[in-house]
Amino acid sequence: MLLWQKMMIGLARSESVTRRMQNSRYMARFARRFVGGRDGAEGLERAKTLREQNLSASLFYLGEYVADPQEIATTRRALSDAAKGLGASGLDVHLSVDPTQLGAMLSWETCRENVTALAREVADHAGNGRDVLMLDMEDSSVTEPTLDLYHFLRNEGLPAAVTVQAYLHRTPGDLARLVADGAMVRLVKGAFAESGKVAVTGRHDRDEAYRKAVVTLLSPKARERGVYPVFGTHDHRMVAFAEHVAATNGWRRDQWEVEMLLGVRSAYQRELAARGVAVRLYLPFGRDWWPYSIRRVGENPKNLGFVFRSMAGG
Ligand code: FAD
Repeated sequence: MLLWQKMMIGLARSESVTRRMQNSRYMARFARRFVGGRDGAEGLERAKTLREQNLSASLFYLGEYVADPQEIATTRRALSDAAKGLGASGLDVHLSVDPTQLGAMLSWETCRENVTALAREVADHAGNGRDVLMLDMEDSSVTEPTLDLYHFLRNEGLPAAVTVQAYLHRTPGDLARLVADGAMVRLVKGAFAESGKVAVTGRHDRDEAYRKAVVTLLSPKARERGVYPVFGTHDHRMVAFAEHVAATNGWRRDQWEVEMLLGVRSAYQRELAARGVAVRLYLPFGRDWWPYSIRRVGENPKNLGFVFRSMAGG
């Protein structure tokens, strides 16, 4: 599996493969499985079709760890266009951003200016008042400034939420502060190769850390404070655990939700939505779709079938 994943990461990083794939008419069909569209307007259109299936969306502009000012400006414009479309769409949409897409590689000051301006646009255009700017969480070198950024936005009265990684040793302390703040928190296991100094490393310990964080976010205290937990996981055991804790502590179905990636465990997403669990899908958009999509194949070889079917035009 590791070798397979490495091969797919190699394909994701190859510039010539990326160029060929992104220009291929057939491969665009494959992209549709994992990617919402080429721009914010297409992403919002896709979000509307998901709404018909009782699924909400979290739009994400493809790209991470960007150091080129021009590319940062392009990202900013694309997200801004998406934010401006929120009101007209009438949907409940989150706008997900990585701080390193919006200037953190240059300076946190630049990042803060970009993210604050974007959060203001979300606030100005939010149709039903439920749209928020969700900060994704990247590697542990940026955990502290990302949390600071979140608290800054909240102090400004802006509609912001933040992602927390269960695997980090520091997370119980961060969650205590976020619970006191009545925050919207997206809880994920954590996707970066961190050392044992900053994170638990084994699968079992990672799952245990996730369960502990679920208990904190679904505690009676968190409910009183107005916390809104978003469980970012495809792991049915974690979702079942969250459902159990939520029911035990008297949380209503509209007070928490589950978020998964578009195209990953789609049948399970529909099954959860059908039995009343609020489900949101992470909906990436942008022209740079190949690296993101082929990484999803790396995570699950079954998705290779979609590549071949797309190439065959079937
Ligand atoms: P895993 O640990 O991957 O899987 C556990 C079990 O779930 C598997 O053994 C299997 O039984 C089942 N399962 C999982 N996937 C499948 C599948 N495709 N088919 C069948 N069964 C399956 N990470 C960050 O570090 N920062 C972020 O900001 C961030 N944002 C995220 C946002 C969203 C919406 C999501 C879904 C993930 C995000 N992640 C983020 C990634 C996250 O940290 C995990 O690395 C990733 O979600 C894999 O962990 P998992 O909980 O989904 O389950």
